[in-house]
Amino acid sequence: MNDSSSALEFVILTLFPRYFVSPFSESILSKAQAKGLVKVKIVDIRDFAEGRHRVADDYPFGGGEGMVLKVEPIARALEQVGRDSPGPMRVALLSPQGQLFSQELAQELARQKKLVLICGHYEGVDERVAEHFIDQEISIGDYVLSGGEAAALVIVETVARLVPGVLGNPLSPGNDSLAGGVLKHPVYTRPADYSGRQVPPVLFSGDHHKIDRWQRKESLRRTRSRRPDLWAKLELSESDQEILAEIETEERERGGQDEPDSKN
Ligand code: SAM
Repeated sequence: MNDSSSALEFVILTLFPRYFVSPFSESILSKAQAKGLVKVKIVDIRDFAEGRHRVADDYPFGGGEGMVLKVEPIARALEQVGRDSPGPMRVALLSPQGQLFSQELAQELARQKKLVLICGHYEGVDERVAEHFIDQEISIGDYVLSGGEAAALVIVETVARLVPGVLGNPLSPGNDSLAGGVLKHPVYTRPADYSGRQVPPVLFSGDHHKIDRWQRKESLRRTRSRRPDLWAKLELSESDQEILAEIETEERERGGQDEPDSKN
């Protein structure tokens, strides 16, 4: 067991605490908590709402459709979170208007001690939450979800696997897509021959230098073909340049097709 004071603590403020029951009790997230590497606390915003019915939302000023999450319950919930485990915390509001979530931002968040994620719902959250109580707004993509819960899950799962020890050996987040600014090479498992579709023979060669080079080549090929945005930012080493020259020759020979057709 890890000393739990060094664990990364996620705190999720939500109107729907049961949403998280299953995802946090499965697979890597469950094991990470059992090992004490990650702590997850779900806070029901309604517990901090006033009145018999604990109403946490209200009609928007100025009219318009949908309800808006009130500022006071969220402010009180954040105060309580600060009292429960004092120390620095990073507070993010999930919002389609926020900074786009990325592997780079995940790496930054994985270095925090405590990450608080506020899930909006309905029409959104009273703007004073964004103005006074958070460090940043985060969006998981250019589309609109009904609530921040799915976004919180995406962020927790992405950040947690970067916490040292969570993946364990031999898995390493350093080999994942995007880690070094490139997409990961293709991977295969048994059978070596599936209805005539073969695994690339180099992977059986036992020559680790050759295998590493093949993996780097396929990684560069994919990144160049699928993600011009990443490719434009990539700094190619001398050996990458040689690999690129090979890819270009192969492409010319295949008549301009930049990835081998995976259906063949
Ligand atoms: N009316 C808001 C707008 O247009 O900006 C959208 C509200 S959305 C229906 C309700 C909640 O879902 C938001 O407050 C936010 O917490 C969450 N949400 C929706 N899309 C999201 C995204 N792409 N990333 C992160 N959170 C999102």
